[in-house]
Amino acid sequence: MPIESNNSGSGNVRVVVRVRGFLPREIERGAANLIEMDPRNQSTTLHPPPHDSTKANARKVMDKKVFTFDNSFWSFSRDDDHYADQDDVYDALGEEFLDHNFEGYHTCIFAYGQTGAGKSYSMMGTPEHPGLIPRTCRDLFERIESNNSPSVNYSVRVSYFEVYNEHVRDLLVPRRDPPYYLKVRESPTEGPYIKDLTEVPVRGIAEVLKWMKMGDNSRTVASTKMNDTSSRSHAVFTLVLKQIHHDMDTDETTERVARIRLVDLAGSERANSTGATGARLREGSNINKSLTTLGRVIAALADDPPQKRGGRKKEVVPYRDSILTWLLKDSLGGNSKTAMIACISPSDYDETLSTLRYADQAK
Ligand code: ADP
Repeated sequence: MPIESNNSGSGNVRVVVRVRGFLPREIERGAANLIEMDPRNQSTTLHPPPHDSTKANARKVMDKKVFTFDNSFWSFSRDDDHYADQDDVYDALGEEFLDHNFEGYHTCIFAYGQTGAGKSYSMMGTPEHPGLIPRTCRDLFERIESNNSPSVNYSVRVSYFEVYNEHVRDLLVPRRDPPYYLKVRESPTEGPYIKDLTEVPVRGIAEVLKWMKMGDNSRTVASTKMNDTSSRSHAVFTLVLKQIHHDMDTDETTERVARIRLVDLAGSERANSTGATGARLREGSNINKSLTTLGRVIAALADDPPQKRGGRKKEVVPYRDSILTWLLKDSLGGNSKTAMIACISPSDYDETLSTLRYADQAK
C-alpha cells in the first residue's frame, strides 16, 4: 500500500484533518465515502472512487493514499457515520491553545480546504453547533470570570479583518462601496500591523459575540460555479488577552499579552476547476499565492530543529511573500503555537488529495 507519509507533526505546529459528513446533495447523487480514519495511529486513508466515468479522471491513476496527522477526526470506517462534532474539535485543540494564551503566548489556528469542506463550520459553526471561534470566546470569559484573584487584571480586545486579493479590509466597520482597504505598516518594535484597524474592548461573551456576528456578515462573498456563497477571502478573527499581575508583596506588576488568531482561509480549490476567468482568475491566483506561502511558512516552522540542519544555512521563513503571512508573523513561530485544520469532504478524490498533501507538507 503506498504510504504518503508516516510521521506526525512536531513542536509548535499541529496538523489535524477533519472530514465532514455527507450533505443532502451528495446523498442524493449516491456519492461514495472515500475516507477512512484510524484513531489508533491517527491515519487518514483516501480511497479511489469506486468507478469513474469522466474522461479526465479515467486517464489518471487513482491509488489508495495513506497519511498520518496529529489528529484525524473521525470517520472510523467507510460504513460508519461517526463524525467528529464541534466538542471533539474544541476539546482536542481549542482548550489547549487557550491554556497557552493564558500563559502569555500567541496562538494561531487555520482552517484550510476546498469550498464546502467545512472550514466555516469548524471555525464559526452554526447557532446550534458553534465552532472554535465562539467556543474560544466563551471559554476565555468563563476562565476570566472564575478567577477571583484580586492580583490579576484582565482585559480583552477584539478585531476582525479579511485579506482579499492581497488587500486588507476591516470587518468591524460598515461595508463601503467601493471597498475601503487598510494599509499594512511595519513598526521596528511591534512588527507588521494594520494601520487604523478597529480593535474594540469587550467585557463579556455577549459583547464579543455581537462583534463576531457583525464581522461575519460583512465578509466578502462571491458566487462561483462550485458554491453560490463560496468565500474568496481569508478571514482573521483576533482576540488580544492582556493580563496584568500585581505582586502584593513587592508591589510590582507584570504584563502578559497574548494574541489569539482564528483564521478561516479562502477555498483552496484551483482556479481552473471553478470556471474562473478574468478578475476571478486573478483573485484565484492571489488566493493560491497566500495559501502557498502559508504552507511554506508553516513547513519551515515545523522543520525541527529550526537551526542549522546538516551544515546547511537556516531556511529563511518567507513571511513577506504574502500579506496574510506577513500580518500573522508574530503569531507564527517563536513561542507561538500554530494549528492547521485541514477540512475535507468525504467524496471528492482530487480536491481531498490536494488538501491532504498540503496538510502533510505543513507538518
Ligand atoms: P467551507 O467554509 O469550507 O466552504 P462550510 O463550513 O460552509 O464549508 O460547509 C459546507 C456545508 O457543510 C455547510 O452547510 C455546513 O453546515 C456543512 N458542514 C460542514 N462541516 C460539517 C460538519 N462537520 N458536520 C455537519 N455539517 C457540516
